[in-house]
Amino acid sequence: MAVTRTPLIAGNWKMNLDHQQAIAFVQKLDWALKDAGHEAGSVEVALFPPFTGLRSVQTLISADKIAFAHGAQDVSAHDSGPYTGEVSGAFLKKLDCAYVIIGHSERRQHHAETDEIVGAKVSAALRHGLAPVICVGETAEDLEKHGASAVPAAQLRTALAGVSADAEIVVAYEPVWAIGSGQAATPEQAQEVCRALRGVIAGTLGEDAAARTRILYGGSVAAANIAGFMREPDVDGALVGGASLKVDEFAAIIRYQK
Ligand code: PGA
Repeated sequence: MAVTRTPLIAGNWKMNLDHQQAIAFVQKLDWALKDAGHEAGSVEVALFPPFTGLRSVQTLISADKIAFAHGAQDVSAHDSGPYTGEVSGAFLKKLDCAYVIIGHSERRQHHAETDEIVGAKVSAALRHGLAPVICVGETAEDLEKHGASAVPAAQLRTALAGVSADAEIVVAYEPVWAIGSGQAATPEQAQEVCRALRGVIAGTLGEDAAARTRILYGGSVAAANIAGFMREPDVDGALVGGASLKVDEFAAIIRYQK
């Protein structure tokens, strides 16, 4: 029997929305989806506030029984101890985080995160029962020199080095040139790389893991282009930045029609 993968629409808020704004946003998004008659469960929705918003979002979605998952935008590779400014996966798990974004290109670029650091953080997330959303993607220069798939595939191979075959992971293909640029990849480009990444998962974790793992596309996803991505067989959802900060637009992305 073919495996069905529940689509995942994830909102990466980056360094936006303080905890009070986060509460207001979650309430409005919930109302917008309910008003539109959205059927919870057809698509999984995950929100990634800054660390300071996690407790508020946790409290609200549990009190109001809102069917959104939540997660953090980063995690320490260490579990506890003298690491000033770091946040442990154990703390995130206590806040009911299901996911954690790891290796976003903005962290690779501004915080010098290497593939090895990303791999160590992936292991840390899994140790604490969090599903890592492993971000990979090529720069415009990589694209010109090596084509679209080579760099993301190599990044993913290193990130999966310490992962066991039964682990729950999510992969996000985010071409760096498409992030925040308004210039999304085409659905065909996204499909080509997501298919290659599924091949990497098959080669490292096996065919079952490859069939089960959700691979998202990210980079200038909007209400106007989401359906095209979701029609592709190897694209199982989206990691949305800018458009996840606008209630109506994000609700429309969640309610995409194939
Ligand atoms: P964007 O960001 O949707 O604003 O391009 C995506 C991301 O960085 O995850």
